Amino acid sequence: MFQKKFIPISNSTFRQTEWTQSTSPQPATGLLIDQFSRQLSDLRISVTDRCNFRCTYCMPKEVFTKDYPYLAQTELLTFEEIVRIAKIFIRHGVTKIRLTGGEPLLRKNIEDLVSMLSQLRTVGGHKIDLAMTTNGALLARKARTLKEAGLDRITVSLDALDDTIFKQMNDVDFPVSTVLEGIQSAQEAGFSPLKINMVVKRGSNHQEIIPITRYFKDQPHILRFIEFMDVGNSNEWAQNQVLPSAEIMQILADAGMPLMALKAQNPNDTATRWRHLNAQGEIGFISSVSQAFCHSCSRIRLSTQGKAYTCLFASGGHDLRSLIRDPQYENDDQKLSQTIRQIWESRIDRYSAIRHENQTLIQHPDRKKIEMSYIGG
Ligand code: SF4
Repeated sequence: MFQKKFIPISNSTFRQTEWTQSTSPQPATGLLIDQFSRQLSDLRISVTDRCNFRCTYCMPKEVFTKDYPYLAQTELLTFEEIVRIAKIFIRHGVTKIRLTGGEPLLRKNIEDLVSMLSQLRTVGGHKIDLAMTTNGALLARKARTLKEAGLDRITVSLDALDDTIFKQMNDVDFPVSTVLEGIQSAQEAGFSPLKINMVVKRGSNHQEIIPITRYFKDQPHILRFIEFMDVGNSNEWAQNQVLPSAEIMQILADAGMPLMALKAQNPNDTATRWRHLNAQGEIGFISSVSQAFCHSCSRIRLSTQGKAYTCLFASGGHDLRSLIRDPQYENDDQKLSQTIRQIWESRIDRYSAIRHENQTLIQHPDRKKIEMSYIGG
């Protein structure tokens, strides 16, 4: 039987990471390396700043009221503009694109954008790896058309199985059954495995860890636990509301669901991979607070309004929309490419690593972070 002990969630390379700025010359190819030798490979595109949920850890309804200054339609990048910018990022080494929001399925004709992006090829000639993160509310209706449009993978946020707790987390009284139907429809449409993301907030939904693990442990889908993060400025984050991944793993072991480590599929994946010892299911842990993974962060985010953000916890972004709407650059992508190169090559972001080293460094009251609902998770 299993010893009661805490299992370190990863080999904590994090602690061994020496944050020395790279001196090596930039590659001649289009590939981009930042100041900490991290190569750009992932582009996350937020296609709307609106959502039909008001998850307390992302878009609390006290802040995101109906009078909140959401973006006007004219401020949003058009699909053609998104594709133009995506092509330049691909030339600079992006191989994976994730569509986010707000809630991406709220963007009208989103399938058209999926179809346009799914035509794109990486520098190596491969189909771009096209994924989407959704809250699943509209998934049952959209799954098949998304698949036909060329979407490769879907991640569904599911913060509880219990309907009452689920409604408390989304704070709009939305039933869990509809999201579970959406997951079923996506699987029937050919999306498998899906990734199922549960944000764990101690005192709000931690009691759902065991039921949701039992529910998915014999399914092909990958359940991932995400530590509650201090994203944006509105979710009233506190360290004591974070349930570290190592504790979640102990809760599972104590409930007779011990896990064993699996090899990372990608060195810059955000989740560590585990599988059940006594079942087929895979489990992931995204431990931005207790085990920061900034040392391998290869992600850049494009907001709905066309600003590039080099970190989820950034305070400011780089305006690309004015560049592509400037008549003098109408048919000239050189300027856009140079701008993207400068943005990434001068990048020094490592917010979570700093948070881990010394929280006081990041808790300056005037430091306003971009809202997650604006740039996607
Ligand atoms: S905190 Fe910023 S730099 Fe670190 S992993 Fe997250 S997005 Fe990347």
